[in-house]
Amino acid sequence: MSQELRFDGRVAIVTGAGNGLGRQHALLLASRGAKVVVNDLGGGRHGDGKSSAAADAVVEEIRAAGGEAVANYDSVENGAAIVQTALDAFGTVDIVINNAGILRDVSFQKMTQDDWDLVYRVHLKGSMSVSHAAWPIMREKGYGRIIMTTSAAGIYGNFGQANYCAAKLGILGLAHCLAEEGRSKNILVNTIAPLAASRLTETILPPEMLALLKPEYVSPLVAWLCHEDCEDTKGLFEVGAGYIGKLRWERTQGHSFNTSRAMTMDEIAGKWSKITDFTDSEHPSTTNESFGTILANLNKKSLGG
Ligand code: NAD
Repeated sequence: MSQELRFDGRVAIVTGAGNGLGRQHALLLASRGAKVVVNDLGGGRHGDGKSSAAADAVVEEIRAAGGEAVANYDSVENGAAIVQTALDAFGTVDIVINNAGILRDVSFQKMTQDDWDLVYRVHLKGSMSVSHAAWPIMREKGYGRIIMTTSAAGIYGNFGQANYCAAKLGILGLAHCLAEEGRSKNILVNTIAPLAASRLTETILPPEMLALLKPEYVSPLVAWLCHEDCEDTKGLFEVGAGYIGKLRWERTQGHSFNTSRAMTMDEIAGKWSKITDFTDSEHPSTTNESFGTILANLNKKSLGG
């Protein structure tokens, strides 16, 4: 039997680790030898209040099981303070799991600026801030693993979550860019879109479904993506209830119009079924791959084709 994958000597920051998914990620990494910074602001699920109790309880749980952990109570908006906790306690940081989150669900019609700003600040700015503070340390040591947490709501859209959807898809954009910038320094960046029972989903999903959606079914993927043996980067995975799948972009073959002049909207209408036909679709994964087809058409023009 193969040896279990471990994190001995590695230092991990898990944000929002006082509850739900983050707590489970922290427990799993610590049980496999990682030294863990358990970050949690300890507020309500709408971003109200703060308390040290949530992070402290998870640190106690880790220590009681023989693991190493310290608490941090800063908001993820203050990433530098969270990374400083890792440096003070353990001297470095190898892994950042951006997980902290809140909800302010309301239809766009009724959404206030505060609803928008707070969700943006915790999710997108928070993921940037913690990653940004850890970035120079990871670059310097030529090693890093960063996990971003998006959501099906961000990928597919969902009623009443304009703030959350925008922030969550912004996180994916951030992940894609950091994956490219980190590649040469062995900083690998992957994103999960989880589904699990937590205080964020207890009002959205029926109780019989929640009972089957344990965070324990999400954390092993996160741990694998954080492990030195995993060489994937720029990935996006949907995970929950025992299912794990990978997503990618899909683009139709499209139609290349004659480039000697701009196409008319009537010509677009005439080719609409071809433009939107996913038969023999492509899967561009970089901006170069994306531009390739467009530039090929441009070349035809410069060659007078
Ligand atoms: P949860 O409420 O159980 O845990 C989130 C934790 O983040 C809480 O402990 C909270 O105190 C902490 N937090 C909130 N704001 C913070 C801040 N500013 N700084 C530090 N900590 C803060 O929720 P969860 O379901 O475990 O969610 C974890 C992540 O997974 C979130 O990003 C959420 O959007 C995402 N997600 C969850 C699901 C799901 O099905 N549970 C689905 C899609 C995405």
